[in-house]
Amino acid sequence: MGVSQDRIDQVLAAVPTGLLIGGRWIDTDATIKVENPATGEVLTQVADASPEQGIAALDAAVAAGAEWAATDPRARGEVLRKAFDLVTERAEDIALLMTLEMGKPLAEARGEVTYGGEFLRWFSEEAVRISGRYSVAPSGGTRLLTMKQPVGPVYAITPWNFPLAMGTRKLGPALAAGCPVVVKPAAQTPLTTLALAAILMEAGLPDGVVNVITTSQSGAVSGPIIADPRLRKLTFTGSTPVGQKLIEQSAQNVLKVSMELGGNAPFLVFGDADLDAAVDGAMLAKMRNIGEACTAANRFIVHRSVADEFAAKLAEKMGAMTIGRGWDDGVQVGPLVDAKAVEKVTELVTDATDQGATVLTGGKAVDGPGYFYPPTVLTGVPTSAKVFREEIFGPVAPIITFDTDDEGIALANDTEYGLVAYAFTRDVTRALTVAERLETGMVGLNQGIVSNPAAPFGGVKASGLGREGGAEGIDEYLETKYVGIKL
Ligand code: NAD
Repeated sequence: MGVSQDRIDQVLAAVPTGLLIGGRWIDTDATIKVENPATGEVLTQVADASPEQGIAALDAAVAAGAEWAATDPRARGEVLRKAFDLVTERAEDIALLMTLEMGKPLAEARGEVTYGGEFLRWFSEEAVRISGRYSVAPSGGTRLLTMKQPVGPVYAITPWNFPLAMGTRKLGPALAAGCPVVVKPAAQTPLTTLALAAILMEAGLPDGVVNVITTSQSGAVSGPIIADPRLRKLTFTGSTPVGQKLIEQSAQNVLKVSMELGGNAPFLVFGDADLDAAVDGAMLAKMRNIGEACTAANRFIVHRSVADEFAAKLAEKMGAMTIGRGWDDGVQVGPLVDAKAVEKVTELVTDATDQGATVLTGGKAVDGPGYFYPPTVLTGVPTSAKVFREEIFGPVAPIITFDTDDEGIALANDTEYGLVAYAFTRDVTRALTVAERLETGMVGLNQGIVSNPAAPFGGVKASGLGREGGAEGIDEYLETKYVGIKL
């Protein structure tokens, strides 16, 4: 059962495959093959931009910028609202597209359409709420006025793991603020971004306000764009090492930057937690997107009194999941994004077992075709194991125990990352104390998911700079200008 080949062909055929520059779709001689990670087969090919074409996209954004910035906020919001309606109308097609190019099961892809689409609606409503303030200087006389103005041309680089949401989370606020954008999606998953751009054009976005460059040479194409003084803002979601390199490059033009980087989320379970709720939360925090999320629970830190029961329950649930191609009925676990991802997860698990960890379920890659790794639970993992220190980006749950709250919190904070932490406890005082002491940008209390378009998403420490979503999200695309007035 599942989805027919005809339907797959029809959805793929509807996606433009060229570069979008200045409102025109442009084919290139060179192309990038887009692979289906569930089969290893090539789905289609898209344009492969050169550095010159990257600059042409920036030219188009610069040319369109002033008029977009001067467009009424309500009119900007209406384009986003129309795009939200179109995404919602075509939810099934977009979901299937994500399943095909990225691997996530259809049910999860549908969830991402709802989540990712909401950034368009949320920021369509934020566009009309941009405002500065007017006040009297403390010593009187002078009046202080602040204006909020669009920062100008934006370069947005997105990863492959949430092909729709990573695009809308940047495009929503940038367009609402009045900025033109050049988007560069990950080479593994260009199709959803291309489909989104086509929807934005159909929703009435003027030519050049959004431009898309798909490329296999991300460094060579991005370098000249970032070095161009006409660019005013870089927003990046991806790995910490690439983010650090981009920050360095951005220093040359003192570019405003937002960075959503890697994570190493702790998942704390205290002795007084509702254990079934904690296991359900763990399933969500670990298995959402098969662990290929920067917010994925990476380290399970469980009070000794409940650790065995928690581990057994989690292993039972994770071990019972159905693995397969994302578009087949009943599949809960799709493939990892590529062969390299399977190698990396295998290496982390081998390192842990070499250091004495026990495998409760999973633990060995599934034979191909496709890039499958089964849900895996590890206990007795030493904190020196790589699986505890590095971002796993796969369906592996390493568990360790703690005795006192101080010890649990210290373990949670023992990482260079600081994106999100989860904590399960029924004690309100403990919950809030722990939330205050965790060194992360976000905390999930008694829940295994924090992402919400109405909330500020982002990290501290090596997890990044800036926030996306919420009222804070649009500020990243606005400059505050102060005007002093002598009356
Ligand atoms: P990645 O850093 O390799 O790639 C991300 C993007 O950067 C892609 O578009 C890629 O083509 C581009 N890129 C790579 N090298 C570049 C260079 N030298 N110059 C310019 N662009 C370059 O990361 P990935 O493997 O695609 O994504 C997974 C990572 O993203 C994980 O570390 C994950 O934690 C992180 N992530 C973070 C968030 C967040 O919001 N914090 C969300 C999703 C993913």
